[in-house]
Amino acid sequence: MSSLSVISEPTLPAQKPPVDPKTLAHRELLGGDFWRRIPSYASVSEAEFLDHHWQAKHSITNARKLLDSIKGLAPDSFFQDAEAGFARAPMSVRVSPYLLSLIDWAEPYSDPLRIQFIPVGTKLLPDHPKLGLDSLGEQADAPVAGLTHRYVDKALFLPLNTCPVYCRFCTRSYAVGIDTEEVEKVQLKVNEERWKKAYRYIESRPELEDIVISGGDAYNLRAEQIESIGMTLLDMPNIRRMRFATKGPAVMPQKILTDHAWLDALTRVVERGRKMHKEVVLHTHFNHPAEVTEITRSAMDVLFERGIVVRNQSVLQRRVNDAPEVMTLLLRRLALVNVHPYYVYVHDLVQGVEDLRTTLHTAIALEKHVRGATAGFNTPTFVVDAPGGGGKRDAHSFEHYDRDTGVSVFTSPAVKADRYFFYFDPIDELPAEGQARWANPAEHPRMLDEALDKARRLERA
Ligand SMILES: *Cc1c(COP(=O)(O)O)cnc(C)c1O
Ligand code: SF4
Repeated sequence: MSSLSVISEPTLPAQKPPVDPKTLAHRELLGGDFWRRIPSYASVSEAEFLDHHWQAKHSITNARKLLDSIKGLAPDSFFQDAEAGFARAPMSVRVSPYLLSLIDWAEPYSDPLRIQFIPVGTKLLPDHPKLGLDSLGEQADAPVAGLTHRYVDKALFLPLNTCPVYCRFCTRSYAVGIDTEEVEKVQLKVNEERWKKAYRYIESRPELEDIVISGGDAYNLRAEQIESIGMTLLDMPNIRRMRFATKGPAVMPQKILTDHAWLDALTRVVERGRKMHKEVVLHTHFNHPAEVTEITRSAMDVLFERGIVVRNQSVLQRRVNDAPEVMTLLLRRLALVNVHPYYVYVHDLVQGVEDLRTTLHTAIALEKHVRGATAGFNTPTFVVDAPGGGGKRDAHSFEHYDRDTGVSVFTSPAVKADRYFFYFDPIDELPAEGQARWANPAEHPRMLDEALDKARRLERA
């Protein structure tokens, strides 16, 4: 009874202290002609800057052009560093003027957008010894080139291999973009014959209901291709849902405002789907609150008015969005522009970006922090896409996790029963003892065996 008596004492109505202004920071979006801070865009008008052709045409594709665009804004030593970074990067380079003008060039080393798109030689770390190029095993689960059928009722269709920008952290660096010196790509060019094979497969599998159309990036599909893929899939009786996946809204929202043919094509697919009681949505990829501007808001408003649902999948990256305040600000800001946070991915094991990965523990701590910060339906699930084709697993659902070695073990009963999947924290974030074990190759199989043994014993218990 004693604990209840506390409640029954007469109390005044609860008085909340005034809100901390920081709580409202998500409503302050960058507006005005911010691009004019960049000398080469100083005379670019708003109409030009909002034109998606202008954005595409002026996108930066190598270190030299980058240097020319922002001369004088950052020290020369930074450009030499970026040149060295580009030379060692396994990804192609493409940065839109919009992104370029959102970067704080006075602080390029700590800028969260620079970190995601422009590598610098001095920050690169050696890859984890357990890293493979197609770390998700997407090719092993592909019945036809560019179609991954891993889960029972859904498949991932990659109709093309180009994007409006190229992200350093891309999971599909095995296929996306033109060849770089470091990587020979799997060819997934636009090819109607390959698409037809994918359609035949999708039609032949009655259990498939849900298709993710990714790439590359659906932004780079022409209007008639969006419509032809969308309508072809809608016509299949087994297909109930589809999502067009694009980074576009985060890196070039201008297209939604000025590429009327593309947006109208998408809208027609969404509207026909709605009449057929089938869901067609857009999945996008914002990682940092600075990627949401007044231009983004205008673009998302257009999608909202057209009834196009937008969900967001972020990639968790060190020094980009691994701080609780930054992640919370991102989620609130996405909610403000009617984008639903859906997933935050623990960074896959990808070549050349060890400096971007975080520990699994970081993801679990963030997950704890953001739950309750905003609406439940705007609270993302934190997932690890288990290397080796285990599929997405809740970050906290590991069977075993050793924070010293950074080895975590997952199972995936619905995807690949009776198998174990490992994830590996970045070595430089481990305690000294764990780092020493990874420095010795003879210890590698031992660390895995230990982890597996513990996972098995826990499961039996
Ligand atoms: C992520 C993914 C999907 C979609 O999974 P959801 O959890 O439904 O978002 C489908 N196929 C593959 C191969 C994927 O990686
Ligand atoms: S837009 Fe998506 S597919 Fe393209 S490089 Fe970025 S993460 Fe990879």
